[in-house]
Amino acid sequence: MQKEQFAVIGMGRFGTSIAKKLHEAGQEVMGIDINADEVEDAELFITHGAVADTTEKATLKSIGISNFDCVIVAIGSNMQASILTVLLLNELGIKKIIAKALNELHGQVLEKVGADWIVYPDKDMGERVAHQLLSPNVLNFIELSNEYSIEEIKIPSSMGGKSLQDLSIRATYHLNVIAVMSHDEVTISPTPDHIMNDGDILIVIGKKSDLSAFSNIE
Ligand code: ADP
Repeated sequence: MQKEQFAVIGMGRFGTSIAKKLHEAGQEVMGIDINADEVEDAELFITHGAVADTTEKATLKSIGISNFDCVIVAIGSNMQASILTVLLLNELGIKKIIAKALNELHGQVLEKVGADWIVYPDKDMGERVAHQLLSPNVLNFIELSNEYSIEEIKIPSSMGGKSLQDLSIRATYHLNVIAVMSHDEVTISPTPDHIMNDGDILIVIGKKSDLSAFSNIE
């Protein structure tokens, strides 16, 4: 990925996790918090830090927020501060604003005042945990719509030693295999004669109901 300028506002647990991952990926990250201790605690994961109240327009301008391509508003419990911050960032012309919402209503307001992407960490994580409890072979997934997903599914041992053709995944389960992961080796767009080993992981795209049927084979 090209280098972008990221700013994270609110260096609590959520904001710090985002800053850390971006920083590890070599991106420039500014960490901002009203509380100096929070900025200090995150100093290993940020390129620069600023102690600022982001509900004040003049403060946002003085820390140079307009230079950032993407600003993540990770203020959680103080809803008023999170909404005001997003409103001001939008007024200052920030191109990409991502904001954490505590609930649906908070999310709707954030969208109205200019957030481009709303994240619901508790709700999203709760749904992920439930999904993985229901389908233990599903290691990871990306929801594409209400109907379709891409899932990382561990093959049942009964499929070890068989080819994709033998299993007729497309005809029987209506799924398309995008890649096969065998230990550290990844085969993109595997051919029908690709033999799978016990423990391999398939990356498959299809309807959620079909994915669920496939991932629950013993
Ligand atoms: P988490 O659950 O991720 O720890 P919190 O809501 O507890 O989230 O923390 C969010 C952070 O946002 C806190 O460190 C808090 O100091 C910071 N914060 C709250 N209000 C403002 C504000 N007006 N300007 C800047 N930072 C703020």
